[in-house]
Amino acid sequence: MAQITDENMYLDNSIHYIDHLKPQCEKCFGLCCVALYFSVQDGFPTDKSAGTPCPNLEADFRCMIHEKLGALGLKGCVAYECFGAGQQVSQVTFAGQNWRLKSASADLMFAVFLIMQQLHEMCWYLTEALSFKLASPICEEIRKALYETERITQLPPHSLREFNLSAHRTKIKVLLRNVSKLVRSEISRINKVTFNADKERKATADFFGRDLRKRDLRCADLRGACLIAANLEGVDLSGTDFIGADFRDANVRGANLSKSIFLTQSQINVAKGNSNTKLPLTLFHPKHWDAKDNTNE
Ligand code: SF4
Repeated sequence: MAQITDENMYLDNSIHYIDHLKPQCEKCFGLCCVALYFSVQDGFPTDKSAGTPCPNLEADFRCMIHEKLGALGLKGCVAYECFGAGQQVSQVTFAGQNWRLKSASADLMFAVFLIMQQLHEMCWYLTEALSFKLASPICEEIRKALYETERITQLPPHSLREFNLSAHRTKIKVLLRNVSKLVRSEISRINKVTFNADKERKATADFFGRDLRKRDLRCADLRGACLIAANLEGVDLSGTDFIGADFRDANVRGANLSKSIFLTQSQINVAKGNSNTKLPLTLFHPKHWDAKDNTNE
């Protein structure tokens, strides 16, 4: 039986291009731990306003409890993903000048970080889109959008702060939606799954706590779906679009996510998986998946 494989889904070596969009905390001035507003309720260690450093941030911008974030249940910290925006803002946009030493620029740096995070997130999805052999009919359009987004990330701080992010995001969203339809329809054809471009779309609002083990979700549109505490154990999710889906405490043990699309490491970090969970080539099994608290329901 024909099945989607890495060979017929991806272009050769495409995953290497995504490396610079992975966070390199050692090159960042702890921006996510300062720039963001966060609260205990959202799984952060304290309630704090944007621009105030987290009390666990050390003078050298390291987190003093980094190794224990999962064990302490700090899901907000575990889930946060900057897509490499931290190192870009710290080392490129502000040329290695940190907010502690250059406090006059601190507010600008934090504002730029929030914009850069969204630009890098778009770059992540566009890079993934470009890696799909199955999206080749529109690859020039994707390439142009990626090039344009990367060009914006190189702008100086004041230009970044003034940039019309919302208009750019709308353009990218439409393109990614077209990529999704194309890739999902091709995977359905190869895997012989009946394709409906909007499959599950209307039902995505609430999968909270639902048992989805008997549901055929292959090639479904689960963008923005609430999958909090949903049971996806052992489910084949090939061709499923998960852009923006909420995976907090979703059971993905033994699930096949290896050919799911637009999935990110932060979504995986907050789900409950195990060594039998299959992931896309660009993502890795979090260390805490082996921990005791992850094996208990
Ligand atoms: S606990 Fe650590 S990772 Fe979380 S916000 Fe504070 S310094 Fe950052």
